Amino acid sequence: MKTIAIIGAGFSGTVTALNLLRQAEALKAQINVVLIDKAASFGKGLAYATEDDNLVLNVPIGNMSAFADLPDDFLEFCHGMDSSLNHGSFVFRRIYGEYLQLRLREAKSAYTDRLIEMRDFVTGMRPSQGGLILNLQTGAQVAADCVVLAFGHFAPRALSEILGEATFHQRIDQQTYLDNPWDVAALDRLPADKDVLIVGTGHTAMDTLFRLVSSSLARKIYIVSRHGHTPNGHRKAGEFVKLAQLTKSVESTMRSLLSDRPTIRMLFSTIRKLSKQHSEQQGNWRDVINSLRQLTPEIWRALPGSERARFLRHVVYHWDVLRHRLAPVAIRRFEDLLSAGRVEIIAGRIAQFDSIAGDSTICASIRLRGSNRCREFMVGSVINCTGPNYDIHRISNPLVRQLTDAGILQQDELKTGFTVDENYRCSDLPNLHYIGPMLKASYWEAIAVPELRVHSQNLAKIILVSA
Ligand SMILES: Cc1cc2nc3c(=O)[nH]c(=O)nc-3n(C[C@H](O)[C@H](O)[C@H](O)COP(=O)(O)OP(=O)(O)OC[C@H]3O[C@@H](n4cnc5c(N)ncnc54)[C@H](O)[C@@H]3O)c2cc1C
Repeated sequence: MKTIAIIGAGFSGTVTALNLLRQAEALKAQINVVLIDKAASFGKGLAYATEDDNLVLNVPIGNMSAFADLPDDFLEFCHGMDSSLNHGSFVFRRIYGEYLQLRLREAKSAYTDRLIEMRDFVTGMRPSQGGLILNLQTGAQVAADCVVLAFGHFAPRALSEILGEATFHQRIDQQTYLDNPWDVAALDRLPADKDVLIVGTGHTAMDTLFRLVSSSLARKIYIVSRHGHTPNGHRKAGEFVKLAQLTKSVESTMRSLLSDRPTIRMLFSTIRKLSKQHSEQQGNWRDVINSLRQLTPEIWRALPGSERARFLRHVVYHWDVLRHRLAPVAIRRFEDLLSAGRVEIIAGRIAQFDSIAGDSTICASIRLRGSNRCREFMVGSVINCTGPNYDIHRISNPLVRQLTDAGILQQDELKTGFTVDENYRCSDLPNLHYIGPMLKASYWEAIAVPELRVHSQNLAKIILVSA
């Protein structure tokens, strides 16, 4: 009987545990799965462990099944709640957390003693007699034949690191400056009657905005990034259309560019052309972007390092707002807040933060984009919503530190995640695998459910073949 330990019980770890048990049953393979996480509730992870119905999934129901081989699994779960929901509907993130937990509970009763949950935190590991020994915070140890690292997302790098210590002219009070936007209790403690500055204009900023406006009508929210681009919305209806013919033609046009030293400029001018042509034929540009989704890993791998770097320097901000869209209800809410003047988007660079003595107010000076002019904002708090940290050398998680220091985890040159081989191995240790958002370094398009569920299914197969 082989023991497979999975570190992290968010989406990636949980679904990999379920895939391992389902596939092992079909193969009549004898395995134990030990799922380890410090979190209070297993299955939900960072994205779906929420009771806050301000937060809506940004992918429609039809693309959110946890299992690549059961595409309607989430839709069927949702029908148990509301039979009018369809493939194109968007539901609360809380509901998705409940779905993952239910599937985990079902697996626990189907596979009783073969699925073990341990509420603990892995602080380190070492190879031993062909397997691996995990050290846990409580002092316990787990011996495993194979280990899956599924430790997920890490909070953004501190703003003082991103902007430089000099930006912080005086020490800013920790109560009014939040580096972890996912710490909801800390968000709720911010002064309700003072304006707020959110740094970053992506999805984390939108989540934070909705939480803040629902708890206080009094404050105005400023949201700043260098470019000031905010996410687009999904279309109002029929998002889940799959245009097979369009996908085929977009893929074939793009693939023809990959064989001969592709450049970012060439690829993006082609995407623009394809979107324009499709719109002229009464189509929707979103379908062209959607058609690229499965091809993205191939494009990413075909790009030379210098072109990937160019993408990150000049294009990623434009790409992200086209590709990572908000649910229709969320974009509508955001637009309403904008037109009511409750939120303002600023394009510019933060030049300096000053703390105003005796008033717990922060003065943020922002140099506006395209001008030398600085505008000052008097706010009660600043929230860092610059997005998850993918730079492994700046992550404080002790296990990540140990594995990085030992050279077992290695990041790509552009610091977008971990490098893994085609068997999801991050080092020459044959029985140590990684799954999760850091796959971005190898695939770029790898951080959301539609991709992670495929990686999880593949990884389970790879582990069982060698078990
Ligand atoms: C806020 C947010 C919203 C999102 N919304 C969507 C969406 O609507 N649709 C979509 O498709 N994708 C969405 N995503 C993408 C998301 O990446 C994936 O859907 C998925 O949740 C990633 O899960 P994960 O298990 O890899 O990571 P996580 O959810 O971060 O889980 C990792 C787990 O590992 C545990 N852990 C870490 N270190 C240790 C350790 N040393 N020992 C033990 N346990 C440890 C943590 O406690 C955590 O529970 C969202 C992401 C975020 C952050």
